[in-house]
Amino acid sequence: MSRPLHLLHVEDNTADAELAKDTLEMEGVACKVTRVETESTFLLALHAGGFDLILADYALPSFDGLSALRIARRQQPDLPFIFVSGTMGEEVAIEALKIGATDYVLKTRMSRLVPSVHRALREARERAELRRAEQALRRSEAYLAIAQSLSHTGSFGWDVASGEIFWSLETYRIFEVDPVSTPTLEFILQRVHPDDGLRVKETFSRISLDRTDFNFEHRLLMTDGRVKHLRVSGRAAHDPSSDSDVVGAVTDITAAKEAERQLREREVKIRQLVDANIVGVLISDLEGRVIDANDAFLQMVRYTRDTLVCGRLCWPDLTPPEWQAASERALSQLRANGRCELFEKEYFRSDGTRIPVLVGAAAIEGTKTENVAFVLDLTERKLAEEERERLRQLQVDLAYMSRVITVGQLGASLAHEIKQPIGAAVTNAEVCVRLLDRDEPDLPEAREAALEMVRDAKRAADIIDRVRSLYQKGSSEPAMVDVNEVIGEMVVMLRSEANRHSVSMRADLAKGLPTIMADRVQLQQALMNLMLNGIEAMNETSGELSVTSKTTEDGQLLISVCDCGVGLPVKQVERIFDAFFTTKPHGTGMGLSISRTIIESYGGHLWATRNAERGATFHFTLPTKDKTSSPSAA
Ligand code: ADP
Repeated sequence: MSRPLHLLHVEDNTADAELAKDTLEMEGVACKVTRVETESTFLLALHAGGFDLILADYALPSFDGLSALRIARRQQPDLPFIFVSGTMGEEVAIEALKIGATDYVLKTRMSRLVPSVHRALREARERAELRRAEQALRRSEAYLAIAQSLSHTGSFGWDVASGEIFWSLETYRIFEVDPVSTPTLEFILQRVHPDDGLRVKETFSRISLDRTDFNFEHRLLMTDGRVKHLRVSGRAAHDPSSDSDVVGAVTDITAAKEAERQLREREVKIRQLVDANIVGVLISDLEGRVIDANDAFLQMVRYTRDTLVCGRLCWPDLTPPEWQAASERALSQLRANGRCELFEKEYFRSDGTRIPVLVGAAAIEGTKTENVAFVLDLTERKLAEEERERLRQLQVDLAYMSRVITVGQLGASLAHEIKQPIGAAVTNAEVCVRLLDRDEPDLPEAREAALEMVRDAKRAADIIDRVRSLYQKGSSEPAMVDVNEVIGEMVVMLRSEANRHSVSMRADLAKGLPTIMADRVQLQQALMNLMLNGIEAMNETSGELSVTSKTTEDGQLLISVCDCGVGLPVKQVERIFDAFFTTKPHGTGMGLSISRTIIESYGGHLWATRNAERGATFHFTLPTKDKTSSPSAA
């Protein structure tokens, strides 16, 4: 033994302790002894540890051997414990061995001490080794179980001759059965999906006969209808007499199969897209040279594959600088990040015509030198955009025409409206001249008359300005508009027309309305149409046309034009908003349709209601986008 044996000796008699030590050393067992007499010192020593063996006397003045044994078993169950005692009856000795003493030696027969110690130490060593082996086995079993669970792989053994089958816990889990049950071939075949049953049965019998390695897949049909995919692989021992002569692993590959299915589905979708000739696919190198293209792309650009691929085609020469720049930007993004942002460009077809396209590209995974580009033909979209733009322009033209016609119809009234301030100006001018012609010119009065004249002329100029704005073509820039101001202007402009029809006008405008972002001329036009319709509806009856403005609860502007005229045509209330619907001999039927288009273009609504007594009211709303905009000084 290389290091001395460390003994804990529970003994009150120092001579006895010395004797034990000497006995051992005489037989070549070097030892270091820690002697204790009381329970507390014993406990302390045990706690400090480092002992190979405990020797204990049976009876001590303040402690006893059996108590020491119990404590030792509790605290260090593997530490050998030998009683060395002068008096120890057989019964007590048996009791001590039962509690867990390793041996007992009588002080009268000290020669037995050495072999007893040797045996105790050997047994302790063997126990420790066994436990280490057990621990290693348990650990490896635990690791295996974890590995099986993580990899969804169970193992099995099959003794073909006896038909016995052994499953690991994970195999039970895969088959979803209680581990207490015994697996059988019949049960396995029951669980196998009916469509795979025959094949699996054949495979099993081939394995048992040919004794070859195996690797196959099949499905399970679980009781609730779920389908599981399994991969089974293993080895059959050539010696059929060995235990479990077939061993193997079974892996639940359901998740992998599902992922594979989804991938296939996606692939099919992509292929459909590619084959549907909707998307052009172009494979090129990092210099932009074409390597391959699909039929859709060839049809798009009307080149043959050969022409495209042989590199004779030199688009850059034909390409305008901005598209070239877009392509180069895309190529440098591809080189740097393996992908590029979507960009629009145009290709030249073989016949020189152009084709607008949207291109997205990415480097092909695995190759550092090839890109795949998806090319979408934008011709139809561009045409649709142009068509939309053309329609919008038509609408603008129509609105303009309608405005011109309406203002044209107002000619006489407007002339009168303008003539009136001009007439007043002439009168004031005459007064002014007369005042200046006096022997003593009345300068203050003349000045007053001249100022009147200026005001008259301004009034006329204002009306002319407004009329001129209605004659302007195209739409003006949107600006912040005070709707009350527009109503006021229209009241002034239509005053003569109203007078002509014996109609009085009243504006009832809410104060502090928010301004809105709009094209002033368009609002004028919508309002003019409604007010003129109202005046015309009162042609026979005369009366009052009132225009009101206010805000609704949800913060929109609400403008209403109320007349007491003939009222809306029976049964045709909604039709009045149709283009060309008119009940007037010289009507165009465009006014309401255009007004509605204008109001709706601002996100508002225009509708008509019948008045309780007489006539109709037309209402329109206008959303005030910026509710915090400063209220106008109405
Ligand atoms: P037009 O005035 O040229 O007929 P509109 O589109 O402005 O074209 O009006 C279409 C029709 O709606 C009118 O012909 C008329 O029948 C009806 N209408 C419009 N405004 C009123 C109104 N205030 N009262 C009664 N009917 C109206």
